[in-house]
Amino acid sequence: MIKVMEGLDKLYINGRFVNASGGREAVINPANEQILSEAPVGDLYDLRLAVDAARDAFNKGPWPRLSPLKRSQVMSKFRESLISRRDRFGALILQEGGAVCGDALSRQFDIPMQHLLHTINVGSRNFARPLAPIVTNLGATKGIGAGIVERVPIGVVAAITPFNYPTYLNLAKIGPALMAGNTLILKPSQLTPFQALLLGEAATEAGIPPGVLNIITGGDDIGEALTREEAVDLLTFTGSDVVGAKIAEQCGQSLKRVQLELGGKSALIVRADADLDMAAKTALRGFTAHAGQGCAMFTRALVHNSVRSVFVQKVLELSKLVKVGLPSDPSTTMGPLISAAQRSRVERSVELALENGGNLVMGGRRPSHLETGFYFEPTLFDDVDNRSSLAQDEVFGPVGCVIGFDSDEEAVMLSNDSKYGLRAGVMSANVGHAYEMAQQLRVGQVLINGGALAALSDAPFGGFKRSGYGRENGEEGFLGYTESRVIEYHAG
Ligand code: NAD
Repeated sequence: MIKVMEGLDKLYINGRFVNASGGREAVINPANEQILSEAPVGDLYDLRLAVDAARDAFNKGPWPRLSPLKRSQVMSKFRESLISRRDRFGALILQEGGAVCGDALSRQFDIPMQHLLHTINVGSRNFARPLAPIVTNLGATKGIGAGIVERVPIGVVAAITPFNYPTYLNLAKIGPALMAGNTLILKPSQLTPFQALLLGEAATEAGIPPGVLNIITGGDDIGEALTREEAVDLLTFTGSDVVGAKIAEQCGQSLKRVQLELGGKSALIVRADADLDMAAKTALRGFTAHAGQGCAMFTRALVHNSVRSVFVQKVLELSKLVKVGLPSDPSTTMGPLISAAQRSRVERSVELALENGGNLVMGGRRPSHLETGFYFEPTLFDDVDNRSSLAQDEVFGPVGCVIGFDSDEEAVMLSNDSKYGLRAGVMSANVGHAYEMAQQLRVGQVLINGGALAALSDAPFGGFKRSGYGRENGEEGFLGYTESRVIEYHAG
């Protein structure tokens, strides 16, 4: 029997687990509304310790001065230590995050481990670039000047993360930041603190030096204090666009660098020639996976009007296979929302859509067979106006909408007519044509016929417009945690 919560009642600062000065707060299991455990709550005193530890480890410690090869050896041990805790992470992803057991390990643990391995490999490379020699001609004698562009760590990184894919997103920041030689303070969502704290155990076991990774759990106030910290050089945030905008403003005064991975309202374009079974499956998963709590999910299906009613029928048929229930039941395919507040937000969005005459074709309520837990039925609206709130605003619940179009130009226009720009999809038998459409979409990623199913660890992830700026994963993600430094030399 694994002791899932053991040792996760303290903050991780300067290589040690320490008591939180801010006390403790109950974390609720969203599947049964019971208290899972009490999490430590960091306050400004704890934050000071964490920031000072990270600053000292960067200014004086060995980590930034190690060779990339040496860092990669420690980070590989860190990855092994994480993998040795796979079952514990799986239990937390399920109990704390409400992910169903069929997805918890595969999507929320194994994929981040694959990405982390790739990041370690990318970060082991030498990115230094020589500047070609030129003849210098400023004095009486001519000389030769040349130089080198190095990639160096930025300094102290603060990472603030959301509740929906905690282990995935925490590691998407820790991996490249540490591989590049930075030190880091992680502030995870207060709804999912335990998956973050477990990273500390693995860090100590792997021999990551004290102060290089610090984990401080707590509320929005701790996040805000981090954004205003002069000693932090880079703030990397994943979360909503509303909080992202506040963070950009809060960071302004200290002129720290900012990376923002924000929300989305991704469109799945279904052309008339698409495999409609595959399109319906992709669309259904696009708003029901993890109960719709994903930033890049296909929550807008743009469907050619000639096939729209057949498509909707197919989604309805397939939706009968979605089993909403306890995440621990292997037959469950959709679990709860993270909190009562999140479910109320989803309910308000549905009510608003109905008040505005929305055409509800399925769901729209709490499931009648589940009395406790923050569950909501898979919900679909057809014939939705792309300018409506339902089509424009992130619901972050299992709510999809279908919007008709009559030409490819209209589909591209509708997809781009969004304040977000994270992802889009094109379903079509004509892959070359789909590619040409993809080139017109103002988003960070386009998946043609479902794409490569998250297998491309080298693919940079991020968005345009209110989906934020900066990229995560791949070479671009790694380089975002570095800065250039030119060293010139003079001969003669
Ligand atoms: P959220 O924006 O409410 O909170 C995220 C984090 O920000 C939490 O840790 C919170 O404590 C902290 N925070 C809140 N106010 C703050 C402030 N003023 N200053 C500093 N920190 C503050 O997000 P959430 O509800 O936890 O997660 C859902 C959101 O995350 C969705 O909008 C989703 O699209 C987005 N998301 C984006 C990506 C991506 O990669 N683009 C991935 C996952 C989730």
